[in-house]
Amino acid sequence: MPRFRTVGTIPPSIAVTDGRPFPRCQVAFKPAMFVTHHNCRLELLQGDLTLQAVDAIANAANPQLAGGGGVDGAIHRAAGPGLIAETGRLYPDGCPTGSAVATSGCRLPARLVFHAVGPIWHGGNRGEPGLLAGAYRRCLELAVEHDCQSVAFPAISTGVYGYPKREAAQVALQTTLDFLREFHRPALVRFVLFDAGSLQIFGDVLSRLSPSTSPLR
Ligand code: ADP
Repeated sequence: MPRFRTVGTIPPSIAVTDGRPFPRCQVAFKPAMFVTHHNCRLELLQGDLTLQAVDAIANAANPQLAGGGGVDGAIHRAAGPGLIAETGRLYPDGCPTGSAVATSGCRLPARLVFHAVGPIWHGGNRGEPGLLAGAYRRCLELAVEHDCQSVAFPAISTGVYGYPKREAAQVALQTTLDFLREFHRPALVRFVLFDAGSLQIFGDVLSRLSPSTSPLR
């Protein structure tokens, strides 16, 4: 069983991003865990990705980069209309499944958004694990290319795209651990899981992949 510890909440009045109060920030942190891997830190949190004050957040986008529901919709709502305008201008042909493209964060606390296109789950025999790993890996490459110290991910493909959460966690975490072993960057990779069940599954998988997993402190 993963060892979780409640680390508390950030009251909206003191939650800041770039120096300004950030009133949408209500519950930023819940039970969490981390592992240190080749001088980098991999964290798991339950929360809202759009509130993360990191250098970059990854979006679970569709290949048209057209905006949608789920985390994609939440990111576009929080970023404002500039985000869809920027994706349309920079990437009129969209982004292939298994890859990712970068834009600014517009009104988000994050400086950049990496629009990652994960696969739709068709049962696991249509290359889904390789495509999901490709989406995460391209985001991590973009983080290095854009000199990001910190990047936060949602559980890509585990919503409307139907990827089973345990299998998705295995791919997401193994791809990240492999990347950190190879490149020793970015310094912080944070998985922001929206619900307690997803956090539990990611924690369980991380504990098995990396036995040195610790509660967050
Ligand atoms: P996909 O189409 O790739 O499956 P979804 O947005 O439907 O993308 O779901 C991906 C994951 O993102 C799901 O596990 C969903 O619960 C989660 N999610 C939805 N909103 C947020 C949010 N604001 N912050 C973090 N994760 C979120």
